[in-house]
Formats: sequence, C-alpha cells, structure tokens
Amino acid sequence: MNASDSERRIAVIGGGCSGVLVAIQLLRQAQAPTRVLLFERMTDVGRGVAYGTENHEHLLNVPASRMGAFPDDIGHFQRWVTERGSTPGFPATVAPGDFLPRWIFGEYLRAMLAEARAAAAPGVAFEEIKGEVIDLETETGEVRLRCGDGRAFVAGQVVLALGNLPGEYPIRRSLPIYRSQRYVHVPWRAGVLAGLEPEAEVLIVGAGLTAVDLVLELRSKGHRGLIHALSRRGLLPQVHRAAAPYADFLAGEKLPTTIRALMRRIRAEVGNAAARGIDWRPVLDAIRARTPSLWAGLSWDERARFMRHVRPFWEGHRHRLAPDVAEKIEAQRAAGQVIFYAGRLDKLVETDGGVEARFRSRHTGQHQTVKVGKVINCTGPRSDYSKYQHPLLINLLARGLIGHDPLALGLSATTAGEVLAYDGTQVGWLFTLGAPLKGVLWECTAVPEIRAQARTLAERLLAAEKLPAPMKPSKT
Ligand SMILES: Cc1cc2nc3c(=O)[nH]c(=O)nc-3n(C[C@H](O)[C@H](O)[C@H](O)COP(=O)(O)OP(=O)(O)OC[C@H]3O[C@@H](n4cnc5c(N)ncnc54)[C@H](O)[C@@H]3O)c2cc1C
Repeated sequence: MNASDSERRIAVIGGGCSGVLVAIQLLRQAQAPTRVLLFERMTDVGRGVAYGTENHEHLLNVPASRMGAFPDDIGHFQRWVTERGSTPGFPATVAPGDFLPRWIFGEYLRAMLAEARAAAAPGVAFEEIKGEVIDLETETGEVRLRCGDGRAFVAGQVVLALGNLPGEYPIRRSLPIYRSQRYVHVPWRAGVLAGLEPEAEVLIVGAGLTAVDLVLELRSKGHRGLIHALSRRGLLPQVHRAAAPYADFLAGEKLPTTIRALMRRIRAEVGNAAARGIDWRPVLDAIRARTPSLWAGLSWDERARFMRHVRPFWEGHRHRLAPDVAEKIEAQRAAGQVIFYAGRLDKLVETDGGVEARFRSRHTGQHQTVKVGKVINCTGPRSDYSKYQHPLLINLLARGLIGHDPLALGLSATTAGEVLAYDGTQVGWLFTLGAPLKGVLWECTAVPEIRAQARTLAERLLAAEKLPAPMKPSKT
C-alpha cells in the first residue's frame, strides 16, 4: 500500500484510551487530507486494559466530573452519561463526585471516536486495523508498518500508544510455575480465573488497584475460597473523600529540586491544612498539574531517590480507591475472606493440585506458607521497554529507533512525546504518549494527563512537515 502524495498518513499503534484520544484529536483538528490508521491487536478500540472490563463493580478511580475526553471540557463525560440515563446499565443520575463503572468510560471513548469520524473535515479519514504491529521498516525512505500476519501499511508519522507493560515476575528467576495454568502473569486478560475451583484459596501478588479489581472479580464470580494478597508493604491504596479544591500552594514559590525538600514542603502544607480541618487529599491534588515541572526540576539521582524511598507511598496516596470499592474490600477483610500481608515471596512451587507459596513477613521475619489453587500476578506494570519481549519494541531497539531513560521508567523522549533514538537524537516521525513518558513526566498515565497530551500531540503532528524526516540508520 502506498500513501497518496497529497494525503498525510498518521499511524497510531495501540487502540486503548491514549491511541483513541489521539485519533479523536487528529480527526477533529485536521483540515487538509489526512488518513488516521489506528492499530489494535486485542480488544475493541477505546477499551484497552482499563475500560475493557465487563465487571460492573470495577469502578473508575477518578470522579465522573473529571473524566471528560477533552482538556477544555472535563465535565463532558458526566454530561454524556447523564443524557443517556435510560441506557441499560447506565446510572439514572450522575453526581459530579460519582465513581462510575469503567466499562461505561470505554463506551464513551468509542462514541467520541464515532462522533469525531462523522464530523471530520472532507478528506479526513479513519481506518481501524485489527492487528499487531511488529516492526517499523524504514529502509525505503518511508515508514512501513509491518503486522504479525504479514500485512504492511505506509505512514509518514507514527505514534506509539502502547500503554503499560505487564508486571515483573513476582520472583525474578525463571521458575517452572510460570509456565503453569495455575500462574497468571497478566491479570487484565480474559480467562484469568479459568479452571479455578470455587473453594480453592488464591494468592494475589500485589495490593494496588489491579489486586483490588481481582478481589472484587473473584467474589462477584461466586468464588468462596480464602484470598491472600501479598505485597512488600501490605499497603492498600488510600480512599477518595470528597473535598473542596485546595489552592496551588507552590504557586509563586521556587520549586524544590530535591526529594527531601519536596517531601518536607508537602508535609508542612498537609500540616497547615490539617490545622484548619482540611484533609490531605485536596492538598496533594492541588499540585497534580505541577508534577511534570516538579519532576523536570529533579536530577536523575533525585528521581532515583524518589523511586527508592517515596514511590510506594506516593502511588498509594495518588491512585486512590473509590469509596464503594474500599467498603467492599473492608467488608471482605473484616469477614476474614481476604487477608493482606506485608512480605516478600521467596518460593512458588506447583504441587499436586495446587501451588505452594512461601513468603517472609516484613514485620516478623518469619516464613509463612500458603497452599493455593492459583497465583495471580498484580505487581503493577513494569516500565523497562527495552527488556520486555514485545516484538515491536525489540525490533525498534534493534533499529536504534528507541532507547530508555536513565532509570528505565519509560522510553527516551522529550516531554512533548517526541521519541529519541538510541543515540539521543530526535527520530522526527516517531512519537508517544501515556505510560512510555513516565521517565520524563512521571505523572502521565491517567485520563486527565493523557487527554492533554493527546491534544498537543495531534497539534504537533498536523503542524509538522508532511513527509517523514530522513530515516535513522540502523543501530547494527
Ligand atoms: C485496571 C486499571 C484501571 C484504571 N482506572 C483508571 C481510571 O479510573 N481513571 C484514569 O484516569 N485512569 C485509569 N487507569 C489508568 C489507565 O492507564 C489510563 O486511563 C488509560 O487506560 C491508559 O490507556 P493506554 O491507551 O495508554 O494503555 P492501554 O489501555 O494499555 O492500551 C494500549 C493498547 O495498545 C495495544 N497494543 C500494544 N502494542 C501493540 C502493537 N504492537 N500493535 C497493536 N496494538 C498494540 C494493546 O493491545 C492495548 O489495547 C487505569 C489503569 C488500569 C490498569
């Protein structure tokens, strides 16, 4: 397939929330002939790992009033749902602070894409391609996207909207259990609970939002066996609480450039707020929009310090549970149906009819062994894009088209999502958004950040020269 001379062709790889929001912005903004090619290997576009769930107990962790797809209209999602109150499964009314089921947000993104397609300017077209892109060939002077099934497509610009990578193995060694049906490495895939006896005990490794999803999923499917949830610190995410917005207390201040100074400043403000009867949550939320500039002000050493000492607490306070979800988990914990442990897993062995899992308690140092029917890995996404066995990433790395940031938190890129090649220069036609930007932005994986990135990236793509920049030579 060859690109017509007059048409700009932009390929977006990944049809989750990030890819769809970029596609929507391109369709809305393009005025000259443009073709947007959206590649998705697994689910319906728009759903991705977060909004592909069919479980109605899996709730958004951002209130409805802040989940709009457009940075200039963040209340749009709430209005859209309200207008459809009679749709099966939709709530009849929606308050701004409501946490709605995640599948509804997937429906919303798909509807927004359909609307953007219908309203696109003449000559602006959209093509959805079901398939996995495994390579970007550049030898012929154009970008040829090669799919796993042998098909090839040509584009002038490419956006990597690949989302998060699956987590690390819970014990970082090659173990036979990892090839067993009793071990689930990617908890977002369909069929995770297949073959699990209803009375069997289950070990969930991790205690973050995905682990919480799994606890709810198990119970809603009628699972009766005890659930063990093991994480390094045994900390569950904090819970949302409605509160009035707090003023941006860093406005006009010289931003801290060390983690120690930053944490001290935040603690002091939380203390000031508490003295006035104000909760810590709005204080943290007040600096969310500043996170990229705070992050940019930290050296890589300071960022490493953050990862070592602060990250688990930061994540637990930033990514909070919807109150309804927290109540359900607490009820299960109180009833002894789920136990949360702090410790480190050191043995996972398949035995007759189950898996023996041994861990060392963080508090007592004692070993404890549980026998379970299944082990589900919910350790949170890994970020080292250069090591993960993703065919596309392996090929891009071999071609020298990508590298990773010094802490391997994401792809090497500018804060605007321009991908940097292995040698540190801008590729010119390759872009990214969402999770791969963690190294440069830190706060970049939730809808409030992604929708803003999508808009500016679309502006950038449409303003660039139509033909791709000269190709980078291969690394080898
Ligand atoms: C369980 C969960 C709940 C969340 N809840 C919220 C929430 O309530 N609010 C919020 O703001 N954020 C939430 N998030 C954050 C979430 O990461 C973002 O909102 C958003 O869904 C990320 O979308 P994405 O498109 O970047 O990634 P993904 O959803 O991971 O989508 C990436 C897509 O790319 C596809 N893909 C990858 N490689 C290829 C390839 N080579 N070829 C073709 N396709 C490819 C994948 O199949 C996948 O569908 C949640 C995240 C998770 C995991």
